[in-house]
Amino acid sequence: MGKSSKGINLTFIIIMILVLVTVYASTIRENSGSYTRGQFIAEMEEGLVVDVEIRPNVQVPTGKLYVTLKDNQQKSLNVSDVVEIQELVKSYNIDPVVKDVPQENWFLTELLPLLLLLVVMVFMFSMMNAQNAGNGSGGKMMNFGRSRARLTTGGEVKLKDVAGLREEKEDLEEIVDFLKDPAKYTKVGARIPKGVLLEGAPGTGKTLLAKAIAGEANVPFFSISGSDFVEMFVGVGASRVRDLFADAKKNAPCIVFIDEIDAVARRRGTGMGGGHDEREQTLNQMLVEMDGFGTNEGIIVMAATNRVDILDPAILRPGRFDRKITVAPPDVGGREEILNVHAKNKPLSEDVNLKQVAQTTAGFTGADLENLLNESAIHAAKENRAYIKQDDIKKAFVKVGIGTEKKSRVISEKEKRITAYHEAGHAILFHVLPDVGPVYTVSIIPTGLGAAGYTMPLPERDEIFNTKGKMLQDIMVSLGGRIAEEIIFDDVTTGASSDIKKATKVARAMVTRYGFSDNIGVINYDEDDNEVFIGRDLAHTRSHSEAVAGEIDIEVKAIVDNCYKKAKDIILQYEKVLHACAQLLLEKEKIGRMEFEELFDQTAQICEEGV
Ligand code: ADP
Ligand code: MG
Ligand code: ZN
Repeated sequence: MGKSSKGINLTFIIIMILVLVTVYASTIRENSGSYTRGQFIAEMEEGLVVDVEIRPNVQVPTGKLYVTLKDNQQKSLNVSDVVEIQELVKSYNIDPVVKDVPQENWFLTELLPLLLLLVVMVFMFSMMNAQNAGNGSGGKMMNFGRSRARLTTGGEVKLKDVAGLREEKEDLEEIVDFLKDPAKYTKVGARIPKGVLLEGAPGTGKTLLAKAIAGEANVPFFSISGSDFVEMFVGVGASRVRDLFADAKKNAPCIVFIDEIDAVARRRGTGMGGGHDEREQTLNQMLVEMDGFGTNEGIIVMAATNRVDILDPAILRPGRFDRKITVAPPDVGGREEILNVHAKNKPLSEDVNLKQVAQTTAGFTGADLENLLNESAIHAAKENRAYIKQDDIKKAFVKVGIGTEKKSRVISEKEKRITAYHEAGHAILFHVLPDVGPVYTVSIIPTGLGAAGYTMPLPERDEIFNTKGKMLQDIMVSLGGRIAEEIIFDDVTTGASSDIKKATKVARAMVTRYGFSDNIGVINYDEDDNEVFIGRDLAHTRSHSEAVAGEIDIEVKAIVDNCYKKAKDIILQYEKVLHACAQLLLEKEKIGRMEFEELFDQTAQICEEGV
């Protein structure tokens, strides 16, 4: 049995290779005579051209032009970019007939991958002794080139379900209005953007916003993710795009939503290794489709990304995604609104203060907040309560904000002691320095994200401006952990590396961005401004001289050194508090604001009496 099945495999492989060779040979196109692009342009200039037909090849953007001249002469020309040539022709006031990317080569785009898959499967099946062959995965295979877009009719999510994001919603209002009644806009000749690009960090509500637009206008919503397009086989992505837009045209007015568009629309020509041909093809097909339908056909293409910097500039051109909306993480007010939306179907006890939760969650996105309330509800349910208490939210906060508390991980006593003093050092500075803190929690329970402990302040409000004084205090607080280790143990650990990084970063920003250093002056030397380009240009350019760079380094070091000295003085002054706090931490593993402040007041008093 083994031998004969091996023989079958070999025959199959040989047949497949033959098929491959024939198919590729048949796609090599003959070059069409001596007619050149230059001649074509010259003839357009002279007004000799009456008709142009553009036929894209399967490998878009290449294609062929069929030109009809005044004297009925027919000529043809191979072009490398059909989109570009279309724009060129249009600029001569000729309206070209644009054909779809050919389906007749379905053999190459659809059957071939299918066949290849078949071969692979046959191979695998015979290797596994053909036990479960024909298990019904065929159905999936038949749908290979079809779009995977999920169609949902709008209506489930409305704009009122999107909390905060006031400006973003205002920007999108006219699109809702247009989708409700496209004719109104067509009548006065208004041009509505074809594409809207939503840009923002993950979880800020981009998908939600797009859905809400469809829901508000009550139109169908086709959604597909950029990564769905990126397949192993060349041509499948492009055919999915074609399919998606064909469906959308049948259902206009509607919204086509492309999530994670960066997966397909990366800057072209930067891909490394395999797979990038496929992506380019998919992207080109998308551009051809977007250029192909009229402005007021009633299709709005929305796309979402969190990496707008790596997108191909071609997709941002007029007539494509010409509207860009940045979806920002919510501010305090926005966070409270979002919490209210998600608390609607969750019974809250009276002690729950969502305003305060909003205050302590600076930096949380909508998705984080939703997750926070969900975790709170789970915690309440675990304790067999039918309502959520503030304490549940506190527990959930630590879980989602800092990672799961892992009480089970075994840590040595020594490690624990070091961590306790380290965190106590942070905590004392948070408490003593006027512009930072107050301390909300101090913990030496490992977070599961690599941190041995944490000290969390309770910011009273979101600050738009940072002051020089506050930044210096931030640096001091960051250094507090390391200083405490040094005072107590005569030796230091590697645990403070992220603290040191943070302190250095703040100090550098003070010097290069905010002009807080007298020696450097009020000049921006910040190289991070160019961060978005780093992906593209490997060579990192610096805008200032070596001499200035040296001076900056000296200034940054001076700031950090100075902060270190001041912070050390403070901690030495409160050394008794440091011991007491570390002791309590070792005992209870975690202490809250009240406990810490009580401890501080008592011990500090003793310090003063004792001296
Ligand atoms: P993105 O697409 O930007 O990654 P999503 O739209 O998928 O984010 O958001 C994920 C979830 O977070 C949403 O389903 C919703 O529950 C919640 N969410 C995010 N932003 C908001 C908001 N502004 N209002 C209400 N809920 C939000
Ligand atoms: Mg999303
Ligand atoms: Zn630390």
